[in-house]
Amino acid sequence: MLQAAEVDHAIAVASSAFGVWRERPARERARILRDVANIVRRDAARFAAIITEESGKPLKEARGEVAYAADYFDWFAAEAQRIYGDIIPSDAEHKRILALKEPIGVVLAITPWNFPLAMLARKMAAALAAGCAMIAKPALETPLTAFMLGEAVCEAGIPAGVVNIITGDAELIANRCMTNPAVRKVSFTGSTEVGKSLIQKSADTVKKLTLELGGNAPFIVCDDADLELAIQGAIHGKYRNAGQTCICVNRFLVHEAILDQFTSRPVERTKSLVVGDGADEKTDIGPLISHEAVAKVRALTLAAIADGATLLTGDPRSDERSCFMNPIVLRDVRRDMRVWREEIFGPVSAIASFSTDREAIEQANDTPHGLAAYVFSRDTTRALRLAERLECGMVGVNDTVISAVQAPFGGIKESGFGREGSKYGIDEYLTIKYVSLHL
Ligand code: NAP
Repeated sequence: MLQAAEVDHAIAVASSAFGVWRERPARERARILRDVANIVRRDAARFAAIITEESGKPLKEARGEVAYAADYFDWFAAEAQRIYGDIIPSDAEHKRILALKEPIGVVLAITPWNFPLAMLARKMAAALAAGCAMIAKPALETPLTAFMLGEAVCEAGIPAGVVNIITGDAELIANRCMTNPAVRKVSFTGSTEVGKSLIQKSADTVKKLTLELGGNAPFIVCDDADLELAIQGAIHGKYRNAGQTCICVNRFLVHEAILDQFTSRPVERTKSLVVGDGADEKTDIGPLISHEAVAKVRALTLAAIADGATLLTGDPRSDERSCFMNPIVLRDVRRDMRVWREEIFGPVSAIASFSTDREAIEQANDTPHGLAAYVFSRDTTRALRLAERLECGMVGVNDTVISAVQAPFGGIKESGFGREGSKYGIDEYLTIKYVSLHL
């Protein structure tokens, strides 16, 4: 069993390695990050197989995750070489003002099981590019993927002690790191509940935080939407990874004029999705992560039906001992239902209608979460107006494939703060030091 002393040892090792790594020229850090990207791509089939084995994610999606993760190392290899400071004009002729960007120090990264490689890669690549050392704590369900990434980083030539992957009691690891002043930054992806506890624990030593927390994504289908495009988006945005992603659609808001058309076609597509072993190439929807997850999704669905939602397809009562769930579509969902208010994290589509854009926005924003949202309309002006009024960090307009290394990923409200990926992602691992120079 993991002991507190082992966590303290990892922090001490990382602190000492930080002194070495921050001194390496940016070009050398970039070279190592590019090598990690190439190793991950070289071993893509093995990475994908382990992701599927650990998490149940269909192999075709696991392959996509591996490619996405490798891209983060390439992206931040380039960003490592663009950490520019500023020379700022001073009021005094004999003074110069310098703004220097420096690595923040030792970072704790805590990651979830639903993207066991990509979530760690997104944090690790940015932290290493900035010159930070890190302690990484992967989810209980998916440690092997993280260890394999650790091997790749070692093979690429990272100095010993810069990356430390620890598994074991999450609370113990978090508590030791939170109380240790040597850990200067925590980047967490996971539930809002744990994120809030980390905010509280970070207060004593005033750590910088990046929090990527839960979502409750609305999917607004306007009456002028390209229905085929919207249906394709709905199927992808709802059922990828069996509905277990933070940006998965949680609430379908469909204009009343097209409600019947929009619901009948996705129901047919939903019925045709293949549920099964993630390792089978034909599988569209793998198992949920645990029996507890299945029980929660079933409970939300059954409560909604009891409260008046209409079940269009799927059987929430089928085989309660299995982690496999046939996808479910519910219509006539109301905003007071738990299935609407809570993050479902499973293959259940909850559909309600709206009559005006104002009403759609008001319903979409009626949640403490604010991660992703989707709008489908042929009218770009209308779609942009809706996107501007949505309270969230990311909006897909006629698009559900919104994750990209170049784009800032993150939320607002109780979905967290800070951004990962993109040109902004590296700032999370940097501090600005101002030097006033008297000549
Ligand atoms: P979780 O329970 O919060 O777990 C996530 C990570 O936190 C795991 O490594 C877990 O370790 C660790 N953890 C658990 N309790 C902890 C504690 N008291 N202190 C410190 N760390 C702790 O989340 P989950 O249910 O596995 O993941 C699903 C959630 O993640 C969803 O809400 C989803 O929306 C969110 N998510 C958000 C994003 C985003 O970018 N916004 C991306 C993916 C997922 P153990 O596994 O060892 O318990």
